[in-house]
Formats: sequence, C-alpha cells, structure tokens
Amino acid sequence: METVHIPGLEQAPSRIGLGTWAIGGWLWGGTDEEASVRTVRAAIDRGITLIDTAPIYGFGESESLVGRAVAESGRRDNLVIATKAGIDWPEESPRRNATRERLEYEIDQSLRRLQVDVIDVHQVHWPDPLVPVEETAQAMKALQEKGKIRTIGVSNFSPEQMDRFRAEAPLAVCQPPYNLFERGIEEDVLPYCRDNGITTLTYGALCRGMLSGRMHRDREFPGDDLRNFDPKFQQPRYDQYIDAVRALDALAEKRFHKRVIHLALRWVLDQPGVGVALWGARRPEQLDPAAEVMGWALDTDTLREMDRIVSETVTDPVGPEFMAPPARE
Ligand code: NAP
Repeated sequence: METVHIPGLEQAPSRIGLGTWAIGGWLWGGTDEEASVRTVRAAIDRGITLIDTAPIYGFGESESLVGRAVAESGRRDNLVIATKAGIDWPEESPRRNATRERLEYEIDQSLRRLQVDVIDVHQVHWPDPLVPVEETAQAMKALQEKGKIRTIGVSNFSPEQMDRFRAEAPLAVCQPPYNLFERGIEEDVLPYCRDNGITTLTYGALCRGMLSGRMHRDREFPGDDLRNFDPKFQQPRYDQYIDAVRALDALAEKRFHKRVIHLALRWVLDQPGVGVALWGARRPEQLDPAAEVMGWALDTDTLREMDRIVSETVTDPVGPEFMAPPARE
C-alpha cells in the first residue's frame, strides 16, 4: 500500500482512505450495521490505514460504527482517524455552523462516538459564511492545544479561505471533491495545497459509484439515496456519463487488463498534489479492487486518451455543487 505524509502526524497513512458517509445511511438509502462494521474491518485488513467520517454522516451513526469497528480490531494505534465538525442538524436538517461553541460541543461527542482519546485529523466540514474564518481557525487551534486533536484540516475551502485560516492556525489537511468527472480544484485548490505543504484527502473518487463500472441505466436507488437528485444521475446527462464509463472500461481492459474502477482510482492518485483518494464503501467486497490499484502508474498517452473520452462523451458536464449544505437562516 502506498503511503503519504501528513504534517504533524508520526504515522504515514495509506493513500487510499476509507470513506464512511454511506455507512451512516443518511442520503444513502439506509445502513446495514453489521455489514458496515465488517467493511471497516475489511479495509483495515487490506492495509487501508486512514478512515474518514463525520458527525453529520447518519447524525452520529457513521462515527459510532467506525468507533465500534476500530475498537473491535484492536488496531487503533495503526490507524489515522479523520473526522469533521461544523454542521448542525436541527430536526435532521443540516446547516453549516462553524462557531466556536459548536466546535467545542462537537469534539467531545466525536471522541465519545469514536471511542478514542484524540482525533488524528479534525476537519472543518464546510466554510460557514456567518462566522469569520478566523474564529473557526482559533477554535480548532484551541482544540489542538488541549490535546483533543492532533492535526487540523478544512474541507470545501477556497485558497483565499485557507489563507485566512492559516494566519490563525496550522493547516495540515484539505479535503476537496475530486475525480475524473469533477476536476474543478485543478486550477486553484490543488496547486495551493501543493505549494503550501497541505496534504489533500480528495473525496468522491468513484463519483458516488458512477466510476465503479457497476452503474446501469435501470438501477434504482431506494429511499433517500442522494443519487435520486444528483444531477449526474438524471437523464439525459446520465447516459453521457454511463457511456464515458463504458469507454474508459474498454481502455482499462485494452491497455492494462484492468477495469474502470482501477483506472479511476489510479487516475486520482497520479494527479500532482493528491495525497489520499477517499473511497466510499459499505460492503467488504466493494474493497476487493484495492490491491490492483497499487503499484503502477498511468502514462501520458493514456491520460490524454482518458481526457479525450471524457470531454467528447460528456458534452453537458455538471459538478458536485448539489451536495453543499445551506447556511443558517
Ligand atoms: P464515492 O467514493 O465516489 O462512491 C462511493 C459509493 O460507490 C459507495 O457507497 C458504493 O455505492 C459505490 N461503490 C464503492 N465501491 C464499489 C465497488 N467496488 N463496486 C460498485 N460500487 C462501489 O463517494 P463518497 O462516499 O461520496 O465519497 C467518499 C468519501 O469521501 C465519503 O464516504 C466521505 O468520507 C468523503 N466525502 C466528503 C465530503 C465532504 O464534504 N468533505 C463529501 C462527500 C464525501 P453503493 O453501495 O450504493 O453501490
């Protein structure tokens, strides 16, 4: 397993990180607790040593299941546990809230649910337009000084917001969206992080399963699954993305005897400035392709061909903006 350095951590975690949003159930059509715990254990068994969660994922459910699985594994000391703060959810309606009070409240809840004494990477989930970035940064720094968190991260922040943040607190990590279909950070966030020694934990490597190669036109998503309103999964756009995945799969087979899921993850890991690719999974077998993602690299000709397939097939692209939670009233 390839590893990466995170400033301020002794341990170098794996470059594939387990994403546990779906394990929380909320916006993923519910959860299967036993399968979730087995998935976290399967990730650890495969050498994945970074686990990303958040209080909002299932309103505490994801953190609790991660905490249970990590405790049962007996390998907490080998793992880098990343969680977040800065969203509240009155009546299960999430809104950004990165006030000092909220961050102070959330950290103790997260430590309890995760069954740990300290969080390795603590990230501000979204910038809060109602709170000065400086206040949020100072609150995170205070948590670090109290020994409750080891390193500080932000997620979904612009370079300007990170500049203001870094004037008040040391920033080790940034978590932006990034995959073959969602490349908005290439012009600003990725170079900024590269230039400033900030490790990126990029999210959505499989574009919510689209790049797994298992998606098909007739698939139905039960309950509150976000793919029922994700604009990529709505026709006529959906067909364009499915066609692109099919062409990428053929390319992976022809050039490497692999599948599109390997190609998509390798592509993220091979981009300059990417530290970790977060891979969301909720069943152990979904992580089976992990071993085949390691130990090779994409050549320039293949990278060019992948760009051509995506730009020629997806003629009406759309980004991940639909996921952004609202500010408070
Ligand atoms: P993702 O990794 O792009 O896709 C995850 C989904 O793909 C899984 O839930 C599963 O869906 C499907 N999948 C995974 N492996 C598969 C396989 N081998 N075969 C077929 N399908 C497979 O999306 P994500 O979970 O949204 O993102 C990853 C992580 O990034 C999250 O879990 C979270 O930790 C983080 N994240 C952070 C933010 C943020 O604002 N900071 C936002 C989004 C995500 P099914 O089981 O339904 O098929």
